[in-house]
Amino acid sequence: MHDVHESLEIWFLTGSQSLYGEETLRQVAEQSAVIVGMLNAGGEIGVEVVWKPVLTGAEQIRRACIDASAEDRCIGVVAWMHTFSPAKAWIAGLDVLRKPLLHLHTQANLSLPWAEIDMDFMNLNQAAHGDREFGYIETRLAIRRKTVVGHASDPGVRSRIGTWARAAAGWQAAQHLRLARFGDNMRDVAVTDGDKVEAQLRFGVSVSTYGVNDLVAAVSSAPADAVDATAGAYERDYTVSAELAAGGARHESLREAARIEVGLRSFLERGSFTAFTTNFEDLGGLRQLPGIAVQRLMSDGFGFGAEGDWKTSVLLRILKVMGRGQPGGVSFMEDYTYHFGPGEPKTLGAHMLEVCPSIAASTPSCEIHPLGIGGRDDPVRLVFDAQPGPGFVVGLLDLGDRFRLVANEIEIVPPDEPLPRLPVARAVWKPSPSLSTAAESWLMAGGPHHTVLATAVTREALEDLATIAGVELVFIDASTTPAHFARELRWNLAYYRLAQGIAR
Ligand code: MN
Repeated sequence: MHDVHESLEIWFLTGSQSLYGEETLRQVAEQSAVIVGMLNAGGEIGVEVVWKPVLTGAEQIRRACIDASAEDRCIGVVAWMHTFSPAKAWIAGLDVLRKPLLHLHTQANLSLPWAEIDMDFMNLNQAAHGDREFGYIETRLAIRRKTVVGHASDPGVRSRIGTWARAAAGWQAAQHLRLARFGDNMRDVAVTDGDKVEAQLRFGVSVSTYGVNDLVAAVSSAPADAVDATAGAYERDYTVSAELAAGGARHESLREAARIEVGLRSFLERGSFTAFTTNFEDLGGLRQLPGIAVQRLMSDGFGFGAEGDWKTSVLLRILKVMGRGQPGGVSFMEDYTYHFGPGEPKTLGAHMLEVCPSIAASTPSCEIHPLGIGGRDDPVRLVFDAQPGPGFVVGLLDLGDRFRLVANEIEIVPPDEPLPRLPVARAVWKPSPSLSTAAESWLMAGGPHHTVLATAVTREALEDLATIAGVELVFIDASTTPAHFARELRWNLAYYRLAQGIAR
C-alpha cells in the first residue's frame, strides 16, 4: 500500500526583520541552514526538514504560510525566530496556516563565547527574546502548537521534534483516509456509532458503507494464483496446524481464508482505502468471518474496526502511520474479561479473531476453531500471546458535540498461566495505576470497549496528535486518582464548550 512517509516534508521557517541589514540577515540565513542540517543529520526526525528563505515581512510570511498549507507534501511547519521578528508581521500568516506548527526555541550557538561576546553577537543571537515575541502572538491567536526548547545538537530535542513529526504524519494520513465499511454498525450498539459528517470535518476521514456482497464479489473473483501465493505465505510465516496445512483434512478452509484476504485486499487497494470495518451480523455470502485476513491487513498498516466500528478503525490507521518503523506494534483490541486475583489484578484483552500480529511475542500459530456467533464456517485465525512491555490503550468516542480520546498506560505481561483452550490472540496487561482505578476512570470518561493497543507509539506522540487535531485527550496513568480524574472531566466539559470557536 501507499507509504505516506515517502516524499513528506517539514518546512523550516526562520523569522527576522529587515532592520538588521544585509550582513546580519546573511548570517541568519547561514545559521538557520546549519540548524536544519543538524536536525536532518541526527536521523531522529523521520521526515526531511526543508529550509526556507528567512522571512522578514508580513506579506512574505503570509505567502510562506499559504504555500505550506497548499503543499501536499508539507505535513507541518517548524518556526524559529533567530532574531527579533515583530509578531504583528505573523498575524496574517498564522491566521491562514492550516498545517501543524512546532515552535522550536533554539539558537545557533550552544555556548556563550564569554571572552569574545560583543554587541554584534548580541545583535545576531536574540532568539531568547525573539521567540518570546512569537510565543505571545501564538497565544494571543490561540494557535495550537508544540513548543520545543534546546539546541539542535541535543538528540533529546531532535527526538521530540521527531515525535511531533510522527503525529503530523498520522494527521496527514487522516486527511486522506478513505474507510470502507462492509455493512453497518452492530445493531443497537451505541459507542461504535457516531457522527461521520463531523468526523470528516474534524479529522478529514471519509467513511463509506458498501454492501457486503460487493466484497463477496471480490472474493469470488480472487485469482487462483494469488490465493495460492497467500496460502503459501501462511505456511511460510506461521506455524500452521496439521489439519490446515497442505494435505491436511481442512486445507480447503485455509484456502478459503486466503481467498477472503485476496478479495478484501484487492477491494481496498482498488478503492484507495486504508481502513475498513466488518460486522459479523452482516456476512452475506462470505463463508467465514474474516479472521486471518483482517489480522494480516492490520499488520500491513490498514485500520480496522469490528462490528462496524469506524472510529476505532480510523484511530488504528492513524496510529499505524505514527508507529511505522518503530519497535513494537499497534492492534485493534477489546477489554474482554478481568482477573481480579489472586495476585495483581489484570485485564485479558482479545477479540473474536481480530488482533494484529504486530504485537505478537513469538511466531503466531494458524488455527481453525468453531465460532459461536456469525453462523458461518469455522474461521481461520492467528493465535498468539502479546509481547510483554509498556504501552497504552486508547479509544475514541463521540460525545455528541465533539470527540474525546481516552487513554490508559498499561504494562503487557505474560499470562499467569498458559491458555491452552483459548483459541484467539490475546494480550494480558496491568492497567496503570491499578485495574480498579483505571476501569473506574475509563467508565467515568465514557471510554469505549474497543480500543487501539499501541506499543510502537509514545504517549507524547499521542498527545501531539490530540493537540494537532484539537481533540480532548484524557490519560489515565500512575498519577490518576478517581477524584482528580472526575474533576478533570468536569473542567474539560466546560473548557471544550467554551473553546469552540476560539482555539485554532
Ligand atoms: Mn467487539
